[in-house]
Amino acid sequence: MTEKCGVVGVALADRDVARPLYYGLYALQHRGQESAGIVTHDGFQQHSHVELGLVGDAFDEGDLESLAGAAGIGHVRYPTAGSIDTSCAQPFSVSFKSGSLGLSHNGNLVNADEIRDDLAALGHAFTSDGDTEVIAHDLARNLLEEDLIRAVKRTMQRIHGSYSLTIMHDETVMGVRDPQGNRPLCLGKLEDGYVLASESAAIDTLGGEFVRDIRPGELVVLEEDGSGFDSYQLVEAEATAHCFFEHVYFARPDSQIDGTLVYEARRRLGRKLWEESGVETDVVMPVPDSGRAFASGYADAADETTAQGEPREEDDDGVEFAEGLMKNRYVGRTFIMPTQDERERAVRLKLNPITSTVEGKTVTLIDDSIVRGTTSNQLVELLKNSGAAEVHMRIGAPPIVAPCYMGINMATRKELIASDKTIPEIGDEIGADSLAYLSPDAVAEVLETDRDDLCLGCVTGEYPYDIDGEATDRDVTRPQIGQATVDADD
Ligand code: SF4
Repeated sequence: MTEKCGVVGVALADRDVARPLYYGLYALQHRGQESAGIVTHDGFQQHSHVELGLVGDAFDEGDLESLAGAAGIGHVRYPTAGSIDTSCAQPFSVSFKSGSLGLSHNGNLVNADEIRDDLAALGHAFTSDGDTEVIAHDLARNLLEEDLIRAVKRTMQRIHGSYSLTIMHDETVMGVRDPQGNRPLCLGKLEDGYVLASESAAIDTLGGEFVRDIRPGELVVLEEDGSGFDSYQLVEAEATAHCFFEHVYFARPDSQIDGTLVYEARRRLGRKLWEESGVETDVVMPVPDSGRAFASGYADAADETTAQGEPREEDDDGVEFAEGLMKNRYVGRTFIMPTQDERERAVRLKLNPITSTVEGKTVTLIDDSIVRGTTSNQLVELLKNSGAAEVHMRIGAPPIVAPCYMGINMATRKELIASDKTIPEIGDEIGADSLAYLSPDAVAEVLETDRDDLCLGCVTGEYPYDIDGEATDRDVTRPQIGQATVDADD
């Protein structure tokens, strides 16, 4: 599974934003490795540099110097909608009659094709097949007739799906989050300005102070002189649809999202996993690095109570937490491997068991998810080959049964091991002595939110957006798109 994208936007008093944007993108590199880009505005014109590759490779000193201006936005991307080439790399930038526009998008629109057809019929020509260009054209069109705030609102009334955007209109930097707040976006204060970013870790990297999350349906406009920001609640939704996988899998553990530090959320999910399905074994160990916070919470809870929920006796040592799998950090991420065969080999290249911590022991292996099952199967086999007497697997999220349409590059239904198998069948397939997942209710409880305020689409098969051919978990319909169908209402 891969997210996805990271967005950032910065407005400063009177120094160039290129370097802060560059460092911000570095902090968000985990959210996208396919391309990186920055667009700035110097008061007269836009400057843009977008390249395929990692942030460190996409920019050199000369590129950063050419990106003049005290306002700018940036983007790291792994392709979700649109092909893998520079035409879909972002920020998307365009100049039109009433000025220049730059857009960075994290998420995925459900109705981009309908809007594209509508705009094409009105004479708009598109240079990419990505949904971000659709938003840019729609906004550009609205800006011909409306002021900035009303133009953004009109676009928000037409687009349906998941979006956290940083937008630059001439020198004005803005951040927008979709009405259901599916993807994260937050605001930070710097010494001489403000920053918008997908995750708070980017604000920390810039030495800034976290101000708050952008609210679902909110537009935040940064003052051009870096002195402050204005907030406009443009669209309201009855419930939010925060992606729970941000907390489980995608976001950096040192980021806080919607009021929760991701590392703490993962530790609490681990504790809950022990409460729901703890099994007494000699050793608890994480799959590095994804299972680490879950395993530490699980092991802490296991120290306090037995698997039956009783307090431990003084002479009961509980379970031992150990790092039993060592990671080779110089192996590429498995998703880069294009074939199943290469993916399987990559697991063995990546992780090696420490025999002394597993030999003759009963082991609980903790991870954050099982997608295809290939990695879990290999890990169980590795541990058993290293002498583990039993290997039990515990997962800090519910089974993934359906794909994501909101900007996560997940496997197809056919590839998802849980789409057509029961949990015991999956356990058999990966060779574990037992397997258990966390329940969706436990996720909501840990995140201290209503289940109805989360997107759980990939684990329930019911989505918070109106997606062709899929069920919804709420009363939601996409806007009807046709020429001149939307009126600005205020
Ligand atoms: S379907 Fe899953 S991964 Fe996609 S937004 Fe919803 S919870 Fe997140």
